[in-house]
Amino acid sequence: MTGHQLVLATRNRKKLAELRRILEPVVGLDVLGLDDLPPFDEAPESGATFAENALAKARDAAEATGLAAVADDSGLTVDALNGMPGVLSARWAGRHGNDLANLELLLAQIVDVPDERRGAAFVCTAGLVLPGGAEHVLEAEMRGRIIRRPRGSGGFGYDPIFIADGHAMTTAEMTPEDKDAISHRGKAFRALLPLLDADLG
Ligand code: IMP
Repeated sequence: MTGHQLVLATRNRKKLAELRRILEPVVGLDVLGLDDLPPFDEAPESGATFAENALAKARDAAEATGLAAVADDSGLTVDALNGMPGVLSARWAGRHGNDLANLELLLAQIVDVPDERRGAAFVCTAGLVLPGGAEHVLEAEMRGRIIRRPRGSGGFGYDPIFIADGHAMTTAEMTPEDKDAISHRGKAFRALLPLLDADLG
């Protein structure tokens, strides 16, 4: 399949590079980010669920451009916190995107939680809106546990305190390729492939 354009509704260059790595060689799509397009009104991320946020962002981009659009919303769900910080992951300590403050607050909140109850999962929901109006939602997770002190300098967000099941390194100690292979985002993005092939191919 050639000649189709897909918008990824994000300004995050790392997400764009990741989706390009996953999709472009396989389906021959040209993946554009929001910075590659003329500006349009973007709704704030105010949904109660990852799916609402992902679909709202994808709808805005599809309507503004007339192209197929994908958006993702992701976060960390901690068992001992009944699934929080969830959709509030990026602003858990109050201000959007303060990764260190978010991580330190989370560690303090579960300081008394014993090792066997420190389970958690990163969750990613990808919303896909096609030019004809069809909508798809794909959700994927990476299960693991929260350790007590940060380790590693790669990744972002809560990566330094998260170890995926079956692994010894935190996701901040893994290479980006190794993390992509098991991550919530990698799995959700890869699940888009058959949908795009079927709908645009
Ligand atoms: P968003 O999907 O860009 O809104 O990100 C939500 C927030 O979830 C991020 O700011 C991080 O705090 C957290 N998060 C999502 N995915 C990851 C990940 O792969 N590693 C670490 N933190 C993540």
